[in-house]
Amino acid sequence: MRGFTWTGLPSRVVFGSGTLARLPDELDAMGLKRVLVLSTPPQEKEARALASRLGGRAAGVFAGAVMHTPVEVSQRAVALAQQLDADGTVAVGGGSTIGLGKAIALRTDLPQVAVPTTYAGSEMTTILGETAGGEKRTQRTLKVLPELVIYDVELTLSLPPALSATSGLNAVAHAVEALYAPDCNPVVSLMAEEAIGALARGLPRVVAAPRDVEGRSDALYGAWLCGAVLGMVAMSLHHKLCHVLGGSFGLPHAETHAVVLPHATAYNAAHAPDAMARIARALGAPQAATGLHELAKRLGAPLALRDLGLKEGDLDRVAEIASRDPYANPRPIERAGIRKLLGDASAGNPPACG
Ligand code: NAD
Repeated sequence: MRGFTWTGLPSRVVFGSGTLARLPDELDAMGLKRVLVLSTPPQEKEARALASRLGGRAAGVFAGAVMHTPVEVSQRAVALAQQLDADGTVAVGGGSTIGLGKAIALRTDLPQVAVPTTYAGSEMTTILGETAGGEKRTQRTLKVLPELVIYDVELTLSLPPALSATSGLNAVAHAVEALYAPDCNPVVSLMAEEAIGALARGLPRVVAAPRDVEGRSDALYGAWLCGAVLGMVAMSLHHKLCHVLGGSFGLPHAETHAVVLPHATAYNAAHAPDAMARIARALGAPQAATGLHELAKRLGAPLALRDLGLKEGDLDRVAEIASRDPYANPRPIERAGIRKLLGDASAGNPPACG
C-alpha cells in the first residue's frame, strides 16, 4: 500500500428523518442562545417556521442568500447579525445559503449550524467561494467549516426532481474526483465508492417519486459522504471546467456538473484505472464514464452544455482558460483534448471512451 496522510475535519453530523427536532437541544449543547436563521428568498417560509419553532433561541431571519455568495449580501447579513447581537447562524438550504453562513463565519467567527436541503455538499467543507466585482474567488480555511450539520431527510422531500437529479450528480462529481485525487487515501476511497453507490441507488427512486423516503435517505447519505470527501482532498479537471463555465460564462452550477462529469471522467479514464474500476463497480456499470452518462440520461438530467446557454463560439475560450493554471489531474491537460471534450459536452454526445 502507498503511504498516505489523513486529516479529519472537526464537525458534528446528525443524520436521519425528523432530525431537525433535535436542533434546540443541539443549540443548547453548543451554548447558542440567539441564532440568526439564513435562507434564500424562496425558502423564507421554512426559515421563518424554523425561527418560530426555536422561539427565544432565534434572534431573527435573513432570507437574502443567493448563488455564488456575493460579498455585498454577506456584508448585509453580518450587519444584521451584529445589530441583533446574534451568537451563531443556522443556514437552512442548499449551497447558496450554506455559503452565506460560511461568509458570515469568515468575518465574525460566529459558530455555524448547517441544515442542507440539497445534495451540493458545501456543509462538509472548508471551502468558500465568494463573488466581488463579477469575479469568483475560492479559499480554503477551517474558519468556515460548520460546527454542526443536521441532515434531515424530510427537508429534502420538496426538492424538485430535476434539481434533485442535477444536485445529486454534482455530489457524485465530488466522489469521482476524490477517487483519483493526488492526496487520496484508503478511507476517502471507501467513502467515495460508497457515496456513488448510494446516490446511484437513491436518485432514480427520487426522480420517479420525489417523496420516496428510502430513496431520499440513500441520496442524502451519499451526498453527505460526497461533501465529506470534497472537504478532504483536492479536486481536478472536472471541477476546474465547471468553475470556468460557471464563473466566466455564467452557466448554472449543478446542471453544468451534471453535463461535464461523464466527459471529464472519460478524459481521465486511461490514467486512473483503479478509480475507474471503483466508479464502475459502484454504479453497477461495465464502464465508469458511460455508466455516468447512462445515469444522467436515466435521471432526465441535461446532457448538452449548449442547452445550458454555452455558445459554440465560446468553446475555444473555455478550453484556453481551463488549460491555464490547471488543477492536479491524472492525465496531463492537453488543450486539444480539452477542446474535444468540450465539443462533445456541448453537443450532448456520449463520452469519448477508449
Ligand atoms: P442553491 O443553494 O442555489 O439552491 C437552488 C435553489 O433550490 C434555491 O432557490 C433554493 O432555495 C432551492 N432549494 C434548495 N433546497 C430546496 C428544497 N429542499 N426544496 C425546494 N427548494 C429548494 O443550489 P446548490 O446547488 O445547493 O448550491 C450551489 C452553490 O453552492 C454554488 O454557489 C456553489 O458554488 C456552492 N457550493 C459550494 C461548495 C463548497 O464546498 N464551498 C460545494 C458545493 C456547492
